Order: sequence, then structure tokens, then C-alpha cells
Amino acid sequence: MPHQIKDLIRNVHRLSTHFTLDELTKTSCGLPNNTTSPVIVSNLQAVCANILEPVRAHYKKPVIIHSGYRSPAVNTAIGGSKTSQHCRGEAADFHVTGHSVYEVVNWISENLDFDQLILENFVPNIMNSGWVHCSYSKRNRNQEMTKFKGSGKYYPGIILHK
Ligand SMILES: [Zn+2]
Repeated sequence: MPHQIKDLIRNVHRLSTHFTLDELTKTSCGLPNNTTSPVIVSNLQAVCANILEPVRAHYKKPVIIHSGYRSPAVNTAIGGSKTSQHCRGEAADFHVTGHSVYEVVNWISENLDFDQLILENFVPNIMNSGWVHCSYSKRNRNQEMTKFKGSGKYYPGIILHK
């Protein structure tokens, strides 16, 4: 198959109504980050169907994906945790256009079933700082945490300051 057609198929490959495999595998670190693993694609589809689509349907605004699946090389390059759910396609980092990260995290907390929900890279009391990290798996723990910018520590719950 010619490369152009392969690329076209990859770019338009839909994981759900509003999200493509291309959006959930993009990376700015310059390393290859494609996947053809049916397990990873299926996990990404579950994140889209159970987290990203309901968020989009509620806010009716674009959901901007920062990071979805991460290949082992990409995860190592960015210093990600070795057990990161991003490596299994079970997690996405994102924000919603026109809504604060804090607001979106709280809406997910009250309305969706998830594995881990993290208010990540949050600057104390700055509602629109950081991003949403949310994972979905077959054994959802509904665990909520806050990680402040510049700190490696995860605090239990969704909190505004330490
Ligand atoms: Zn993440």
C-alpha cells in the first residue's frame, strides 16, 4: 500500500465520533509514537467512549488532547512513570476549550466512572492551570488526586492548595 494512503488511513482512523487515533498518539518529543496493537487501540477506544466523549457532550466544546498513548521510547524520553497507564493506552491528558481545568476535573468526579482522575501540574488556586489526567480501565478505582506544578508528590483528592 502506498505510504500516502497508509498515512491517510492512520490520520482519519476514528476511535470514537469525535476522536482519532492520530490525536491520541501525537507527541511533540520527535520520537515515533504509532501503535497497531489491538489491545492498546481498544483501551484508547474505552477512554474515548467513557471519558472524552461524555466530557465533549457535556461542554459541547473541543476537547484538546495533550497526550494519550505513549510508546516506551516516548515515555522514557519525557521521564514518565514506568507503570504509566499512558503506555497501555488507558489514560489521556487534556483540557476543554473555554472551561477551567479545575471545573472539568470536578465535573468528571461527580458524573463519570474512571480509574484515576488527577488534577495535574496545578498551580495553587489558579483554576485554569495544569491539565486533566484521566484513566479508564477494566478495574476502575475511582481514585482522585492532585499534583502541583514543580512537585513530584500526589495529594489525595481534588484540592486547590497544599
Ligand atoms: Zn497523564
